Amino acid sequence: MTDLTDRLTAGGELSDDEWRFLIDGSYDRQILFDEADKVRRSHYGTDVYIRGLIEISNFCRNDCLYCGIRRSNADASRYRLTGEEILACCERGYGLGFRTFVLQGGEDSYHTTEWVGKIVSHIKEEYPDCAVTLSLGERPREDYKSWHQAGADRYLLRHETASRSHYEKLHPPDQTYLRRMECLRDLKQLGYQTGAGFMVGSPFQGTEELISDMRFLQAFQPEMVGIGPFIPHHDTPFATYPAGGLERTLTMVALTRLTLPKALIPATTALGTIHPQGRELGLRAGANVVMPNLSPENVRGQYSLYDNKACTGQEAAEGLAALKETVAAAGYRVVVSRGDAVQTA
Ligand code: SAH
Repeated sequence: MTDLTDRLTAGGELSDDEWRFLIDGSYDRQILFDEADKVRRSHYGTDVYIRGLIEISNFCRNDCLYCGIRRSNADASRYRLTGEEILACCERGYGLGFRTFVLQGGEDSYHTTEWVGKIVSHIKEEYPDCAVTLSLGERPREDYKSWHQAGADRYLLRHETASRSHYEKLHPPDQTYLRRMECLRDLKQLGYQTGAGFMVGSPFQGTEELISDMRFLQAFQPEMVGIGPFIPHHDTPFATYPAGGLERTLTMVALTRLTLPKALIPATTALGTIHPQGRELGLRAGANVVMPNLSPENVRGQYSLYDNKACTGQEAAEGLAALKETVAAAGYRVVVSRGDAVQTA
């Protein structure tokens, strides 16, 4: 097993059978998690970076079959934060020690190029020592370019699945795999620290699809990778599908750390939602980022991508003191830092 993990960390290619073994095989997962932790510590020590997640709108023109804020969900109660509200979140977050703000939302047509650009430049003027991450879905290259010029440092756009046929089962025909990939290439080319990622246990996903995801990560070399279990939302076509499993998700987190030793990998909210210790277990399997919710409390319940999404307690910015203790108990340390990716040689 460790000969495979050593080869992965060295940037080597694995055969289908070797990948199948690492993903599905019966071996002691603790050994895999420990290997991933060792690699993480060699680049990042015990640092855990925190990101203040501001969910700026749940209006969405897309119709992803898995997502609770898809446009077809007439029962979603919609909200959009004002520029002032977003800046107030940053102010509060800065005081708490956040040095990265993540503006995430549905694909809301109200968010014009100028509107987003203005907010980004405002935040960068007020908090020049902070990084701004955007996660606003697929946009024309010109938008990405203008937001990067306004000061946005990073962009999160999960590829969701690197298998084209699988992508088509998770999305309606007007949302294409090729367009998703084009956006990711645009972001990287424009100089963003770029985040890809996928759900574990999404409907119709088998081991072959996960192998495609790993090979995609190896080829694309994103700076950030978000990995969480699929969790059903009651108002979507996937309402009755089972959630992704804890061990399988941790396995993919660990394999991602070995494949991309210097990546920034969050222990995601979804992981914390399926298991009370999900976040800590994610950190111990190679993750090095947590993204507490910094949205105004009155809208948090509305950004409902899946059922029972955690947004209180240690998932919330105001739970940061408790989160720090949990992280310390797991053997790591929350640091006040932008937490950029360490440079690739
Ligand atoms: N509109 C933005 C933000 C999407 S929400 C974009 O397109 O990038 C952020 C992530 O939540 C998605 O990329 C998806 O991977 C995840 N997500 C959505 N629905 C989910 C579900 N039911 N279970 C788990 N994760 C989900």
